[in-house]
Amino acid sequence: MFESFQNSLQSALKSLAGKGKLTEANMREGLKLVENSLLEADVSYAVVKDFMASISERALGEKVLLALRPTDQLVGIVRDELINILGPVDPSLHLKANGPTILMLCGLQGSGKTTTCGKLSRLLLNEKQKPFLVAADLQRPAAIEQLHVIGRQLNVRVYSELGAQDPVKVCQDGVRKAKEAGCNVVILDTAGRLAIDKELMDQLIRIDNRVQPDQAYLVVDGMTGQDAVNSAKAFNEALELDGVIMTKLDGDARGGALMSVKQVTGVPIKFLGTGEQLDALEPFRPEGVVGRILGLGDMVGLVDVIKSKVDAEEQKKLQDRLQAGQFTLDDVRKQLMMARSPGLIQKMMMMMPGMGEISKMLQDSNAEKGIGQQIGIIDSMTPAERRNPKIITPARRNRIAKGAGVQAPMVNEVIKMFDIMGPMAKGMAGGNMGTAMKAIEQ
Ligand code: GDP
Repeated sequence: MFESFQNSLQSALKSLAGKGKLTEANMREGLKLVENSLLEADVSYAVVKDFMASISERALGEKVLLALRPTDQLVGIVRDELINILGPVDPSLHLKANGPTILMLCGLQGSGKTTTCGKLSRLLLNEKQKPFLVAADLQRPAAIEQLHVIGRQLNVRVYSELGAQDPVKVCQDGVRKAKEAGCNVVILDTAGRLAIDKELMDQLIRIDNRVQPDQAYLVVDGMTGQDAVNSAKAFNEALELDGVIMTKLDGDARGGALMSVKQVTGVPIKFLGTGEQLDALEPFRPEGVVGRILGLGDMVGLVDVIKSKVDAEEQKKLQDRLQAGQFTLDDVRKQLMMARSPGLIQKMMMMMPGMGEISKMLQDSNAEKGIGQQIGIIDSMTPAERRNPKIITPARRNRIAKGAGVQAPMVNEVIKMFDIMGPMAKGMAGGNMGTAMKAIEQ
């Protein structure tokens, strides 16, 4: 995410790094480079102009900090201003204590509305809420089935009406059904169009007036750059938006649309969509995003990612087995499966300070392939071998290697990993992991 923005800004700042002392001339040069990076990153011209005016004023006025290198000083100013523009943050869904909270998602076709309905439902399920989905996208026939597929995947109820013509009625009926089913959050998946048109806006305004959603969120595709800004403007003028969810920030999105959309709508950016899977939704925190853009890392985000992948119940079971002296290679396999979640390794690397560059060199697929082979090795063992790897003789080792399609020394590595992980996991189960995470969080 934001890689090209990050790259152009970092190389711009690098060219300043050689200059030991801050002068008005090199600060101006640095500011010009920042301006170009922003434009290249798809931030709209008007927003760049405003942004540059505010950082120039600060940068050129801050001559007192002569002790700092110009790059450091400029990075500091750019960071503060970016955080300023992207905030304030409000990732809350403002759920009501009584009665269902109605969330309406709107946006152009293909922006990721239906997928985001699923992502929000997953998030709500994790928070022990009871989401309910309403298929009100009557424009795109496949959308209804797509929502049902997501609903089945998450075990969340989906309301749709066969052959329905009126999305307002579908939404009203859906809200009633949700109440009957005892669900407390209703998510309306509304229709999109390939481009803004009056009919679409009228339909959304009718739903807004008659169903009165508590929160109306615009879903925008972060890959579309300037178009995202234009559609955000149109939606914001037609509806009273409460927030924006920007999707597809995992691909080649240049990230600049975040700044522009925030500027033109003035409403909080709630979440970022970072993948097609239903767990690829991050609460928006400007500090984290800006830290990543400037290569300063995002420790809070990192802790969130780790936490979201560590199943508390599984960890408890592991702890119990460890205490009973029952840690086996099956447990190692479970940990490996967790580490193999798509993109996890790269995601973690991108969030660590200074690791952005390295993570690009270290192809994610290679690391994931290695984990896949290790899982294959464990799968080729007999249950007895997994319980007690000490019984693995050279003949058994060759059999396992053959079964997994790897060289025999790799089998040894997995056994060695088991020897190391046992005591380490014991430490984690004893609470060290929690302490370690706390230390990072602070
Ligand atoms: P809708 O027409 O607005 O309902 O859009 P969909 O939910 O059908 O999404 C359109 C396409 O974008 C689908 O192929 C989704 O899998 C994909 N998509 C949605 N969100 C994201 C995201 O955050 N990242 C990526 N890479 N793809 C996404």
